[in-house]
Amino acid sequence: MRYSRYLIPTMKEDPSDAVVSSHRLMMRAGLVRKESAGMYVYLPLGHKALRKIINIVREEMDNSGALEFLMPELTNADLWKESGRWNTMGPEMFRIKDRNNLEYALGPTHEEAFTNAVRSTVTSYKELPINAYQINTKFRDEIRPRFGVIRSKEFIMKDAYSFDVDEEGLDKSYQTMRSVYRKIFDRCGLATIPVQADTGNMGGSASEEFMVASEVGEETLLICESCSYRANQEKAVFKREEKSGSITGELEKVHTPDVKTIDDLVKHFSAESSKFLKSILYTADGETVMAVVTGDREINEIKLKNHLGCVELELASDDKIFEATKSPVGFAGPVGIKNIRIVFDLSVKNTFDAITGANEKDYHYKGVNPGRDFEIKEEADLVTAVEGDACPECGKKLSATKGIEVGHIFKLGYKYTKAMNFTFLDKNGRPANPIMGCYGVGVTRTLAAVIEQNHDEKGLMWPKEIAPFDVHIVGICKTEEDEKKIAEIYEEIKKAGFDALYDDRKNSPGIKFADADLIGLPLRITVGKSFFDTGDIEALDRKTKEIKRLQRKELVPYLKEFFGR
Ligand code: ATP
Ligand code: MG
Repeated sequence: MRYSRYLIPTMKEDPSDAVVSSHRLMMRAGLVRKESAGMYVYLPLGHKALRKIINIVREEMDNSGALEFLMPELTNADLWKESGRWNTMGPEMFRIKDRNNLEYALGPTHEEAFTNAVRSTVTSYKELPINAYQINTKFRDEIRPRFGVIRSKEFIMKDAYSFDVDEEGLDKSYQTMRSVYRKIFDRCGLATIPVQADTGNMGGSASEEFMVASEVGEETLLICESCSYRANQEKAVFKREEKSGSITGELEKVHTPDVKTIDDLVKHFSAESSKFLKSILYTADGETVMAVVTGDREINEIKLKNHLGCVELELASDDKIFEATKSPVGFAGPVGIKNIRIVFDLSVKNTFDAITGANEKDYHYKGVNPGRDFEIKEEADLVTAVEGDACPECGKKLSATKGIEVGHIFKLGYKYTKAMNFTFLDKNGRPANPIMGCYGVGVTRTLAAVIEQNHDEKGLMWPKEIAPFDVHIVGICKTEEDEKKIAEIYEEIKKAGFDALYDDRKNSPGIKFADADLIGLPLRITVGKSFFDTGDIEALDRKTKEIKRLQRKELVPYLKEFFGR
């Protein structure tokens, strides 16, 4: 492709709203343009790279035996009502009506649609397993679209749904997808870390996210360097310290006016934060629940929600708190509370002479001891693991890293096939529900993640398999005759099967080199003064910066060696 005939609107300056490298560089190298918040136009160069990722995803999915579908983006509300998610999907789902007032959603995910499509075509165990997938646009009304295409309102996802006759089959499908995902990301030049992820209360039994380590990642991963434990912080568990101690004091009520936060309490009582029991009240599907954790820890609402098995969990209103504790916000504690469900974190039982709210305005208790002053009837892991906590598997210290989630695999179970009454006839001729898994790759987010991982201060550094072109030919000459000679080399490279971007513009060499660095194709071939003087062509490896000087006849063999084709 001749640069002069292509459209690459590179920018010298960083766009003001781009805070992460991938967003900045995708704009500057002319891959995308912003249409409005969370919506992007893929310009030809960006689209070409995206197509390469899509092709890799498609090839690997097809190789695994998965079947490609193309689903409507407009999904009928009836399907969502069947699964019960019309009411639980929340404001992230775009809902619209047609002229006849029929309701639809713009597909944010397609469990219902695929369950429906497969149930209408599969009747017997003989037709299973099936892994059905599509590569299609998803719509999500994200609260905060940001970081360019990393979190947008409209994005491309590969979503796949497996249907198996039994759990063993599901496990096979899941493991197949796990290895397919590794291949996909490897081929994209992306180093990913699979981490254990939250399975929510969907009845799922296993879930892993594929993370790309990055400072701009929105997820926190806890990683054990000594063993293979890797988990999303939402899900991560840790080994609890065995604390020994003894009860020394009596339960004592202390006047604590204006002492509300853990920091205030630490100052007031001059005690460590772990001595305090934080009691937080929630409304879980309408019911008031108290969660009690030690003061040195953050409560993990995902763990709490999973433990309670509720759909909606929110902090209790002041009125509800007063109703349950007979005191205003800031003085709740488990002592003497009988009328509501209380869940204790696993560490609470190991506290001695603790301090907690007295369920009375301006009062706390000290000398609080579990067992003596309140009973632990229900306990669960309710807190967030942090860096330095002990690995649940080997006991060594966990470290924390930020990550971008590019893919997610999930054992869904029977949730959709049961709710939507999808049955097949099993070996014995009896109706049974298939068991499902679902598997997503954020295709557009993957493109951004590749760029996060492959750039320098001058611009992009494309991995070979997904680079929009293989080589960037910079031609530098003054006469038309010389231009013809450069064009011959361009034709020769094309003929040898390499996709070349030939910068034939009349711009200065400085501008051409800067654009070549910014666009970042794997190999830059300069045909300029030294070619016309001595026949030397310069080949620059964008990543290693290594320069080779080649004679014309050496060029194609070198390209073959460089690209391994
Ligand atoms: P996140 O926690 O980042 O919101 P999610 O858990 O909602 O992700 P899934 O529903 O598992 O994501 O979707 C599968 C994949 O789609 C994700 O792994 C991610 O790569 C991609 N993805 C999700 N939301 C977006 C978005 N708003 N913009 C771009 N890609 C997205
Ligand atoms: Mg999301």
